[in-house]
Amino acid sequence: MKILTCKELGGECDARLSAETWKEIVGKMVDHVVTHHSETAKEMEKMHNEDPEKWGKEHKPLWEAAPEMQ
Ligand SMILES: [Zn+2]
Repeated sequence: MKILTCKELGGECDARLSAETWKEIVGKMVDHVVTHHSETAKEMEKMHNEDPEKWGKEHKPLWEAAPEMQ
């Protein structure tokens, strides 16, 4: 399991999101921004429509670099 904060994933708070896979944390982050940061959710949606790869390209390296937690 790895943990990244909302901020590290392009959000704006220090909420810690944990997941086993990149895909899982992307889903959690989407749920989190939709629930807590509607402006960020809109920006992420816009970014996704312009370039679906952009967000992943920017943030996946952080996931790859995060240490495995037990
Ligand atoms: Zn947040």
